[in-house]
Amino acid sequence: MSIRRSITELVGNTPLLELTNYEKAHGLEAKILVKLEYYNPNQSVKDRIALAMVEDAEKDGRLKPGGTIVEVTSGNTGIALAAIAAAKGYRFKAYVQDQVSEERFKVIKAFGGETVKLSSDPIVAKALKESDGDFFVAIRALKDALANEEGVFFAEQGANPSNPRIHELTTGPEIWEDTEGNIDILVANVGTGGTLSGTGRYLKNKDKNIRVVGIQPDERSLPGKDNPHPEEITGVHPFEGIPEDRIPKTMDLTVYDEKIEVLTENAYKAAREAAKSDGILVGTSSGAAIYAATVLAKRPENKGKTIVAVLPDTGLRYLSTNLFNEEYKV
Ligand code: PMP
Repeated sequence: MSIRRSITELVGNTPLLELTNYEKAHGLEAKILVKLEYYNPNQSVKDRIALAMVEDAEKDGRLKPGGTIVEVTSGNTGIALAAIAAAKGYRFKAYVQDQVSEERFKVIKAFGGETVKLSSDPIVAKALKESDGDFFVAIRALKDALANEEGVFFAEQGANPSNPRIHELTTGPEIWEDTEGNIDILVANVGTGGTLSGTGRYLKNKDKNIRVVGIQPDERSLPGKDNPHPEEITGVHPFEGIPEDRIPKTMDLTVYDEKIEVLTENAYKAAREAAKSDGILVGTSSGAAIYAATVLAKRPENKGKTIVAVLPDTGLRYLSTNLFNEEYKV
């Protein structure tokens, strides 16, 4: 008999798939293996960190029975925390960035969680106004306010060591075991940097020759003065060329060897292609990871090598965006 008694027992151990048809279509002479994080119970890599942050907080008393879990999130972490909170009997409140797709708000609510649009929270709105729209300052103000609230555990994925640690304890070992150590390059997106830092650290400790490549959005995929609302890669942020105090504490800059900049349209193209060639439906950052893996696979020095790309979530979470909108040409 094999019966799980909580969704917490369904997190991790996601499969590794070789994109055999995609490799053929591109004439690649390196292997691209993708780690399908949409196999987690709530369809994203964030189930891992949600469970780790909650269970670590339970262990050391930061989260007590009847408590409320709070997080600022682009969505996946909110969905994961909402589900874990439901299964474990906690309340959950998510502060969600305004531009995040509608599906995500609905899913958090379906799990009984509460959602607040960041700009509509009075503390955040005041801090945003006073700081000329500085998101970073606004989150700090929110954190200070929450610190005085009884029974609140602020998960803070970008500063919580449970985040990179769980990737070091699970994602890294899973890749190492599934490839039997035959991996040359790891490709990971960087939002909080948890995936890259934890997985990369584990793999480099196993074999120092493994290269770790981080994905950063191309400048044209980031809001700027000329283009305030570009097509963005949800959940992915720059980690080079920004002030040091803006880099999440969960991002270990000593782990990566190279960064590849990805334009959102190239991420869309790769995700659309992989859906048609190999039958996987993945999100925008996953498309970015497949695109970056393709760039690496085409380099002559990588002939015969094995590239593992972590694909963070399901494409079903992006049906209201342009990812699979064929009228949006890429
Ligand atoms: N892709 C998506 C869709 C995400 O939600 C995130 C997390 N913000 C990432 C990639 C980046 O993962 P990490 O936070 O581990 O760097």
